[in-house]
Amino acid sequence: MLTVSEFESMKAIKGTFQLGGVRMNVYMYLVDELLIDCGPSRLRKEITDFLSTESYTQIILTHHHEDHTGNASLVPPSIPIYIHPEGIPLCRTRPRLPLYRRVFWGSRKPFETKGIEHQVKTKNHTFDLLHTPGHAPDHLALLEKEQGWLFTGDLYVMSQPKSIFAFESIPDVIQSLHKVLSYDFDTVFCSHAGILHNGRRRLEEKLDYLLSIQTQVIQKHNDGKPASVIQKELFPDRHVLNYFSLFENSPKHIVTSILNRETTHQ
Ligand SMILES: [Zn+2]
Repeated sequence: MLTVSEFESMKAIKGTFQLGGVRMNVYMYLVDELLIDCGPSRLRKEITDFLSTESYTQIILTHHHEDHTGNASLVPPSIPIYIHPEGIPLCRTRPRLPLYRRVFWGSRKPFETKGIEHQVKTKNHTFDLLHTPGHAPDHLALLEKEQGWLFTGDLYVMSQPKSIFAFESIPDVIQSLHKVLSYDFDTVFCSHAGILHNGRRRLEEKLDYLLSIQTQVIQKHNDGKPASVIQKELFPDRHVLNYFSLFENSPKHIVTSILNRETTHQ
């Protein structure tokens, strides 16, 4: 299901669906004629119907994951699709997605992109691009300084994650949160949590939480505890997504991404 709401001069396009016990929202944003992300292929019909009534002249992808890029292969070639340069080869190849991601979001076909790193402009806005890896190597956040807006892709999603994906890195997310928080902004536009009017505070909460987790993991490691014990002590509970993803999403990756960084720095 797709719902469109207006916020100042932009449109927030929310896709919602459910599978098993897991319910997810995914947002795209249309500012002037710039479309930020183009949604999962599971919502192909709704999204292409919506876009056929709108005018957009350029697309920027916050990163290459299929829930943000699943409809990119349908975009007319006259419309440029921008992504951080690290994302170009990732979009050009067909991803080897685990079954649960293909079922949940739908697959995505290869498509061509243009690299972008510094700025994207629309009629009324200038967005500075901030490379913010941690969730994905090509992740970009878009900062509109005059309005105090920050489009955060999947950098935020929630304040206190108890579980992450195998491809994510907590130390990199911490670094990226520090980076965006060095700029001025209030309102955050998240790809899954939507528009957060107290967004700066939410990002600070996430940074504080991750720093505290990182300290605890390192402390327990220095006390001689193995990763499996640290995981059980800090994250005793399991979430349905852990099983559903066959542990591609697991608290284990929080602990190991911190310990991997820690041991390479010693
Ligand atoms: Zn993602």
